[in-house]
Amino acid sequence: MYDINKIREDFPILLRTVYGKPLIYLDNGATTQKPKCVVDSIVNEYYSVNSNVHRGVHFLSQQATNLHEASRETVRKFINARSTSEIIFTRGTTESINLVASSFTDAFMKEGDEVIISVMEHHSNIVSWQLQAEKKGIVLKVIPMNDKGELLLDEYEKLFTDKTRLVSVAHVSNVLGTINPVKRIIETAHAHGAYALIDGAQSIPHMKVDVQELDADFYVFSAHKIYGPTGIGVLYGKEELLEKLPPYQGGGEMIQNVSFEKTTFNELPFKFEAGTPDYIGTTAFACALDYVSAIGMDNIAAHEHELIVYATQRLKEIPGMRIFGEAENKGGVISFLVGDIHHFDMGTLLDRLGIAVRTGHHCAEPLMHRLGIEGTVRATFGLYTTREEIDALLSGIDRVRKMF
Ligand code: PLP
Repeated sequence: MYDINKIREDFPILLRTVYGKPLIYLDNGATTQKPKCVVDSIVNEYYSVNSNVHRGVHFLSQQATNLHEASRETVRKFINARSTSEIIFTRGTTESINLVASSFTDAFMKEGDEVIISVMEHHSNIVSWQLQAEKKGIVLKVIPMNDKGELLLDEYEKLFTDKTRLVSVAHVSNVLGTINPVKRIIETAHAHGAYALIDGAQSIPHMKVDVQELDADFYVFSAHKIYGPTGIGVLYGKEELLEKLPPYQGGGEMIQNVSFEKTTFNELPFKFEAGTPDYIGTTAFACALDYVSAIGMDNIAAHEHELIVYATQRLKEIPGMRIFGEAENKGGVISFLVGDIHHFDMGTLLDRLGIAVRTGHHCAEPLMHRLGIEGTVRATFGLYTTREEIDALLSGIDRVRKMF
């Protein structure tokens, strides 16, 4: 049974008020709240274990190292990677994409080679490639979508040439909620001899992900969007591919031997982890993954699906409502505008009612251009979101609408 009241007790912040109103937190796409076990893990490790990892022979250092490496195993299991060598800890999705963009381009791309992205990408999956395009003259191609917010797979196929090296797309759009058919997208990339990177920032908190089943070459995500701490993320990469990529940053941890003449690099995954890692964060991240696993990713997906169906149906009853993103296969994101009400005005007035939503372009300006708008109001759900909160959102929107 999905015991929402019990789950909510694990998140102390949900008890607070804003402007004297109970907090209704519908900004989970930006970041999720943290259960007590995650915060406790941070406090306990600082109080009782803290010591730098991988470098010490002393007790605390070894204990911290064991916790850090056990967290890597927890991540491996969570996404069903073959080996912990394939799990690189980064600062988040953004850093993971930048790492691949930089190292993959160095290893595999020359001037004129092509990368395919989609029209609904987050800036991190656009600008990282543009930086490489400027340096190396690689070319970006863009998969278009239909008005429902679904990628046009026939058009996608047509983008391939003998210069296509990589396809890099979001699993779930952070604006439209579209769940992209990434298995098929990856298959098509492979059929054309290209690799595939999947941006899992908005999928990993909401569904079971199996990187082997998807056959993704790279899969990236952030801990803070799945109830873990900020500043930690993952780059999953197939081992044989990661072996071929040069390091992204230089420093401690990532080397085997250093002399002024020549440096040899450490083995995977450490080759890509220069400097002291956020080992306190990785332990807390593993706690977050254990927490969602105990509830069950399928149960979380079912709970959130029920909410999205209910919210969409009720929102459509509001006069002047325009919902952006009506894909057949859609996750817990609803972007909307009501009549001529500016998204900032809607967001600000909802905030005064205690309802936290996001407004603006959501780091997806090219998608806003495609939609012909400047921004939207975005409500995003989490495992603790209730029907009552959606009712409060609906009556809040209606109240704002009547004021205008
Ligand atoms: N990709 C998508 C689809 C996102 O929604 C986000 C964040 O909102 C990111 C990438 C960037 O994630 P982070 O800021 O955690 O690096």
